[in-house]
Amino acid sequence: MATTRRWMDQGTRIFSGALARTRDDALAGPTALPGWTGRHLVAHVAANAEALLNLAHWARTGEETPMYSSPGQRDADIAAGARRAPGELRREAEESASRLAAALDRLTDEQWSRTIRTAQGRQVPASEIPWLRAREVMVHAVDLDPALSMGNLPEEFLLALADDVVAKRSGTDCPALVLTTADGRHTWKVPGRGEPTELHGSLGAVVTHLTGRPGADVTAPSGAVPDLPPWL
Ligand code: ZN
Repeated sequence: MATTRRWMDQGTRIFSGALARTRDDALAGPTALPGWTGRHLVAHVAANAEALLNLAHWARTGEETPMYSSPGQRDADIAAGARRAPGELRREAEESASRLAAALDRLTDEQWSRTIRTAQGRQVPASEIPWLRAREVMVHAVDLDPALSMGNLPEEFLLALADDVVAKRSGTDCPALVLTTADGRHTWKVPGRGEPTELHGSLGAVVTHLTGRPGADVTAPSGAVPDLPPWL
């Protein structure tokens, strides 16, 4: 968990830098995440910290406090948050991230091992919370800031993220894939629909494609690169 906690802090700094580089008018414009403006992204990242604070509370007290009160609440929070003034959104993103870090720092070993439930309904130990947060801030920093790509994120983090996304997509309606990094060092198989398509690219490009972001620099020797729905 020391590693994922480090990634969470690193991702928070990367997201904060991306947000600082994004001017107010650009926040109203599109991001790499189809259909989302910068405001939607920032509102979502702030709401995610609040949701994970609920899980930290659950871990600390044993009182069941889910991430979101209902399946529709996540989307409602994003829509409402996106209408706030940019300055307010920026403050919320920063303050919620600090509160989450402080809440996690207070957890004892026993509380870290308490079972909580993610928004997807998975039962996991509270020690998963830093990973849940790390992937949000890292990936959405790249979504927000055109100056960043997945290739700018730490390699070990990208490998863990690829494993996570592959596990999530396996056995769903996703087209079957075999992804190999250009250096030949890493391969992921996604069992799914149809004959598997082989894809090659840098680690950053493979992760960009796996997370369903358009325009990833991956190639398919057999022809077309299948589109994947967004993840996260
Ligand atoms: Zn997200």
